[in-house]
Amino acid sequence: MRASSSAASNGHPGCAADACAAGPNAALVLCGGLAAAGCIGCPTPLAPQLAGSIGAPHSGVLTNAVQLPVSGSGYARFRPRGRFYWGHPGLVQMIETVAASLAKQAPASPPLVVGDLSAREGGKIERHHSHRTGRDVDLLWFVTTPDGAPVRSPGFVHVGSDGLAPVPGTNEYVRLDVQREWSLFKALLLSDAGNVQWLFVSRDVEALIVDYAGSRGEDAELLWRAETTMLQPGDSSSHDDHVHLRIACSGEDAVHGCIGGGPRWEWLAPWPELGPLLPAWLEQVAHDDPFELAGLPLYSKAAAPDAAPDGRVPVHETRADNDRERRTHLDEGLLHGETSLAWGLDAAESVPPIGVVL
Ligand SMILES: [Zn+2]
Repeated sequence: MRASSSAASNGHPGCAADACAAGPNAALVLCGGLAAAGCIGCPTPLAPQLAGSIGAPHSGVLTNAVQLPVSGSGYARFRPRGRFYWGHPGLVQMIETVAASLAKQAPASPPLVVGDLSAREGGKIERHHSHRTGRDVDLLWFVTTPDGAPVRSPGFVHVGSDGLAPVPGTNEYVRLDVQREWSLFKALLLSDAGNVQWLFVSRDVEALIVDYAGSRGEDAELLWRAETTMLQPGDSSSHDDHVHLRIACSGEDAVHGCIGGGPRWEWLAPWPELGPLLPAWLEQVAHDDPFELAGLPLYSKAAAPDAAPDGRVPVHETRADNDRERRTHLDEGLLHGETSLAWGLDAAESVPPIGVVL
């Protein structure tokens, strides 16, 4: 971890009611037991596998958060003393490395101005519906004067189809710096620190950026990814005054309870495969004292003793199919995720209790 960042404590005041029920397979197994103990969705010592970015961007919490410093190479916070500059370590690292690389390309240019991320322990924060699990950040536009001289962003200014934005309280305009904005999007899409789930922007801004990148002869695959991830959300403002970046759950994140927020783009690494769940473990979940489940092995690559020659275990297929179906529906949520939430709750309720399924 970088010296400039600090890890959050493990308090969880904003515990999401659906985070546990909508977690990955293994979480479901444990949650079945934990339900009996009256604890659902909370990352507690009884559910040690729930950690990091837990739940969906519009309904979740955050542990092990990292704080974005007030400023760094190529970036500065919009609210230097803001409380909502905590995020998933990958997101914070992405902001820092991408900003530093842009600064290297144009050392004299104004910094990337960074809006809110999340609260230290996630949960709902003012001004935002999502931003609850450390995977979202608002990035203000790079702008120039109307003549093209780079200037620091004056704040959240609304860019029109001509690329111009009035500066509130003045008679002046700034112009979207399409060149630097595309450099930013390109660097984010190519970043090793995390995977872009969405770049929420208005249709006008998307058109300006796509036109610019296309005219530059950028790689077709990269352009396609950019066009795929840029979206004007239908359940929020048009996002003509900033880009809202959301990163996708990594496979590791998903194992620990990260869900939803958008489709699993085909260029992202596939989800980790679950090994067979041994019937003996499931019986233990159904019958044992839930307070003793912390040591239960969740994943195994070892072959199940009752597996068919091809290694498949029918009862486990049922569980996996449930999870696949549920994830597909969860992925339909966009910025605020109302659809995602509804599907998540419905699907979670449709998963029969462990004792019945197994
Ligand atoms: Zn936002």
